Amino acid sequence: MYPDTLLFIDGAWCASASGRTLPVVNPATGKQIGTLAYAERPDLDRALEAARKGFAVWRKISAFERSKIMRKAANLMRERADMIAPLLTMEQGKTLAEAKGETLAGADVIDWFAEEARRTYGRVIPARAEGVYQLVIKEPVGPVAAFTPWNFPINQVVRKLSAALAAGCSIIVKAPEETPASPAELIRAYADAGVPPGVVNLVYGNPAEISSYLIPHPVIRKISFTGSTVVGKQLAALAGQYMKRVTMELGGHAPVIIFDDADVELAARTMAGFKYRNAGQVCISPTRFLVQEGIYNSFVEKFVAATKTVKVGDGLDSATTMGALANPRRSRAMEVSVEDAQKHGGNVRTGGHRIGDQGNFFEPTVITELPDDAQAMNVEPFGPLALINPFRTFDDAVKEANRLPFGLAAYAWTRSAKTANAIASSVETGMMTINHLGLALPEVPFGGVKDSGYGSEGGSEAIEPYLNPKFVSQAGL
Ligand code: NAD
Repeated sequence: MYPDTLLFIDGAWCASASGRTLPVVNPATGKQIGTLAYAERPDLDRALEAARKGFAVWRKISAFERSKIMRKAANLMRERADMIAPLLTMEQGKTLAEAKGETLAGADVIDWFAEEARRTYGRVIPARAEGVYQLVIKEPVGPVAAFTPWNFPINQVVRKLSAALAAGCSIIVKAPEETPASPAELIRAYADAGVPPGVVNLVYGNPAEISSYLIPHPVIRKISFTGSTVVGKQLAALAGQYMKRVTMELGGHAPVIIFDDADVELAARTMAGFKYRNAGQVCISPTRFLVQEGIYNSFVEKFVAATKTVKVGDGLDSATTMGALANPRRSRAMEVSVEDAQKHGGNVRTGGHRIGDQGNFFEPTVITELPDDAQAMNVEPFGPLALINPFRTFDDAVKEANRLPFGLAAYAWTRSAKTANAIASSVETGMMTINHLGLALPEVPFGGVKDSGYGSEGGSEAIEPYLNPKFVSQAGL
């Protein structure tokens, strides 16, 4: 039932020129379920030539027509969601409900960008002389190279791909090798919707080899990367050497600030539910819980109780509420974090261990009173690990929230509008949501500051990085 995944180059599905493949493993069983085609230099050269030709075609198609094709792709994703979701679960580990949610949310992202395609307005600037028209025209930047990770195999691709296509760019997607089949289905939806050959290309292989070839290549005009800060900095530096435009969506270490006047019950239930989504392998995952002293014990008790209700298992089992971690690196990283936390005197309130010896299962884990020199307080856990510490004053909370170099997402809970305004303006973050979960909709900005990167992958801001403003000044003769 799980397919072998091919490359998609110049409108056709194909094996790599060398015939080389890599295995795909189900993280819930540790067993191989399929293979993917492994692209090397000759395949990349074909993809580059296709993207060059595809751009020449696609940029000439009106935004109105592009938008229609995109909406067709969105509808295909919706129609195929029940077929795509199990593939995503089998290769990535998340629950079927989450996988279906991701597929349908992908369709919504496509629709949003299909609408934005028709709104890439320029502007007219009043001239100093009579008869002169000063125009700002928005043009697509050109072929894009996009690099996406395994935690949201569809979602990470769909934002970059749809923004690029809406703007009139062609694209080469280097999708995640560990989770190849579901992003391939997204590409298939676009191909079946009628995107011309060469406009969308999909490759897999050695990430470093592919990025070091595509980023400097003269055909490629823009880079978009989602992944770790360490890799993002390397790719941004390389792109800088070749003057390529860049969007970087990198790591986070989200603070959750819960004030004495918050609805403790609601905050604990909501944030525990969100913490274990995708087993915590989410760049905006709530991680450092800072809880004001007056409600600290009550919050910890309720959060731990909610954590204990999480049912860990194979994502294909409908009773499961948290699936396997996506790869063995993550379960090992969790073990290391917990061991280090214990050495630093943290209290493991629940969890802390691997589950079973098959697949990458790890217990939902809560650690409290962890000093800020512990590894988990500084390195993105990217797993089912919540850290809870008390704070005394507003300023103490802000200081801890801003201590790390990351600034992607932040959360706060308070019944005071004054405190809500103050915390929103004090935390160094790209996104903040207060008293509810309000991030990552297609129509709102998505991106970070500081080491979490730059550029937005949502909202009307997201299409701008794929457009060049061209200034034309025209005088009547
Ligand atoms: P990693 O840092 O090697 O890889 C992260 C992603 O970047 C993967 O998709 C990988 O294919 C890609 N990548 C790595 N080197 C690359 C290169 N030279 N060129 C192009 N792409 C490259 O390690 P990992 O074990 O997969 O993940 C480790 C950490 O990365 C996680 O703990 C997390 O902090 C971060 N991460 C973040 C996101 C996110 O959504 N921002 C997603 C996945 C991983």
